[in-house]
Amino acid sequence: MSSLFCCPVCGGALEINPQSYSCPKEHSFDRASKGYVNLLLSNQKNSREPGDDADCLRARRRFLTYGFYAPLAKAIGQAALDYTPQAPKVLDCCCGEGYYTHFLLDMLQDHDRQPQIAGFDISKHGVKMAARKNCPTEFAVASAFRIPAPDNAFDLALLCFAPYCDGELTRVLKPGGVLIRVIPGKAHLYGLKQVLYDHPYKNDEKSEVPTVLQPVEVRRISHTIRLTSDQAIDLLAMTPYAYRTDPRSMHRLHDLPELKTDIEFLIEIFRKPQ
Ligand SMILES: [Zn+2]
Repeated sequence: MSSLFCCPVCGGALEINPQSYSCPKEHSFDRASKGYVNLLLSNQKNSREPGDDADCLRARRRFLTYGFYAPLAKAIGQAALDYTPQAPKVLDCCCGEGYYTHFLLDMLQDHDRQPQIAGFDISKHGVKMAARKNCPTEFAVASAFRIPAPDNAFDLALLCFAPYCDGELTRVLKPGGVLIRVIPGKAHLYGLKQVLYDHPYKNDEKSEVPTVLQPVEVRRISHTIRLTSDQAIDLLAMTPYAYRTDPRSMHRLHDLPELKTDIEFLIEIFRKPQ
């Protein structure tokens, strides 16, 4: 079976074998028993284990399992349904532990779209958690700054809360293909920040403007959620605030009977010109 990814060494097509991925020039990459593949070359790593660590990803998985972000996942799925043709090729960039990737697969399959989906992340822990045996979605460890995918290959790319790599995302989309980018809205997690910080601030909603991709539409999702302190601690662990918050402020979360906070997302849709 051929892969949606390509050889990170020579760019050739990759064939999926039971225990490896290989290209015609005989570059070969081991396939783990859960099916994922490591396409990150050692010279593309800036640390031994780049990306989110296992504790952060486990907190993220626990939190996402509670379902508080399901409205976002559904909205991403709806945007994918609105903007992709039958049998779309989809790339989830920086997929983490795969919550949105699997949600997208289920939603497109439920609508008989017959998608082919690939997800990648620089964090091996994330990809390991995302991969499932006998799942049609491919998962790879790879860098967003050098995506191991052919030019003009995908109908849809998803980028959810991840740094924007303009050139690479543009390159891998087909002409007419669509990028769905999710960024935090201004009120996102404001209730959490009010507990943690003496001077909380709202997000500025500024995001990098693509050079080639054309803006099509922005959809705003906002809700208020109520969390137990354990749920709030998992939420904090999956945000960038976890690294910036001093332990005393963390204790305030432990002592809360309930955290009420807004969540707000912008789903930005861009299209690659024909
Ligand atoms: Zn090769």
